[in-house]
Amino acid sequence: QWIFLNDQYVTKENAKVSVYDHGFLYGDGVFEGIRVYSGNIFRMKEHMKRLYNSAKSILLTIPYTEDELTEIIANTVEKNNVEDAYIRVVVSRGVGDLGLDPYKCAKASVIVIVEPLSIFPKELYETGLEIITVATRRNRPDVLSPKVKSLNYLNNVLVRIEAHLANVSEALMLNDQGYVAEGSADNVFIFKDGSFLTPPGYVGALDGITRNAVIDIAKELGYEVKEEPFTRHDVYTADEVFLTGTAAEVIAVVKVDGRVIGDGAPGVHTNRLLAKFRERVVMDGVK
Ligand code: PLP
Repeated sequence: QWIFLNDQYVTKENAKVSVYDHGFLYGDGVFEGIRVYSGNIFRMKEHMKRLYNSAKSILLTIPYTEDELTEIIANTVEKNNVEDAYIRVVVSRGVGDLGLDPYKCAKASVIVIVEPLSIFPKELYETGLEIITVATRRNRPDVLSPKVKSLNYLNNVLVRIEAHLANVSEALMLNDQGYVAEGSADNVFIFKDGSFLTPPGYVGALDGITRNAVIDIAKELGYEVKEEPFTRHDVYTADEVFLTGTAAEVIAVVKVDGRVIGDGAPGVHTNRLLAKFRERVVMDGVK
């Protein structure tokens, strides 16, 4: 396995960063998770746009142009000779001293890791997930925008801990006003009264690439998709619930905080979207 690390390709064993890297010391940096389907990188342009916007928002300079980084990522995929994989791109503030000052970090560290997939087990797509809502809140958009995919994932980690303690594999975060925001690493949709609903950006969620692909697909299939805030009550009483994310794709949720969703099995509309999404992922990719 070859990893791109600051202008070099190194083996996994040799892929090491300094303990003075501010990505490690302060979570100062941004990242992306991208899928490769049959050798095609899914929605690369959208991922690059989000990465560069995340970096811009925290005043972090990525030492490559978008085109250069796109090529580096494609080369890393090729070097690893994989058809279906998950790519992790990390850009941290780089090596500085122990102080917080990012201006002492001369150059951002750039890492590209390509790995075989580790997604939810196949059975879970047939049975659906049981999830909970947790006390951890999404950070407010005016503090650190959830649209910035930063290396500060502590609230997401806390969501996973709460989920683990409750013996479920994922959980939903609410925002500070109590509206449903998103999962620890996925966006959320409900299907109610014949329409799909997903929280709008201002509720406080990552602008998910899979979310946007699913919205496109649902509209193409003739569904109405509303970006509207909703509460836990709306989730409990929805006909269908599902999560979307690069790793998870589209996965049905069948129980939330003990409330059975619909008839307790993945819904027909969710399944239609998942089938169409899987058809489309190869088509939408770029070599
Ligand atoms: N929300 C959060 C917090 C995430 O980390 C992710 C995963 O990347 C998502 C949502 C889903 O976004 P995407 O579909 O772009 O992977």
